[in-house]
Amino acid sequence: MLRGLAVLLLAALAACAPLPSGQGRGALWQPSPNFDQRRPNFVILHQTTNDNAATALATLTDPQRQVGAHYLIGRDGAVMQLVDEAARAWHAGESWWGGNTDLNSASIGIELDNTGDEAFAEAQIVALLTLLDELRTRYRIPAPNFLAHGDIAPARKVDPSRHFAASDVDAELAPGEQALLHCLLQKKVARE
Ligand SMILES: [Zn+2]
Repeated sequence: MLRGLAVLLLAALAACAPLPSGQGRGALWQPSPNFDQRRPNFVILHQTTNDNAATALATLTDPQRQVGAHYLIGRDGAVMQLVDEAARAWHAGESWWGGNTDLNSASIGIELDNTGDEAFAEAQIVALLTLLDELRTRYRIPAPNFLAHGDIAPARKVDPSRHFAASDVDAELAPGEQALLHCLLQKKVARE
């Protein structure tokens, strides 16, 4: 009798469609078509502390290192994308901002190739600001949500370094780019 029940139960389970992986325990699955992918609402800047982009790229794509970012920008302004913006890249680590304790889940991570002891190349900052302004427009990310790693993990991180400065850029910037740079530099002054 019990054995018959078990067989019936197994057959019933096998007939079920697979459950969604993010289902709440005990909730009845009643699918709605009204959704799309979650949107990042923060951007976090880093420096690689490397002296060339090839070394940084090797680290950021090495499965053993378990560290990655969505974008890597070289000193020459070349922008490389390493992770889909919809995916959660591993760049922020233990961090906090405005009550948010999982910045990796909510952000785009951008690595600037820089040792930490040198000025940032103008071509690199211009490429960065172009990318930031594009992300701000596309995802409607508020300017105050553009942050440095040093802002969200002040006990562990100082990147991008004190060399990150407006004086690095002589090129004419679009108003949106100027506003983002201003926001980033204001926070830098506050954390120094
Ligand atoms: Zn960092």
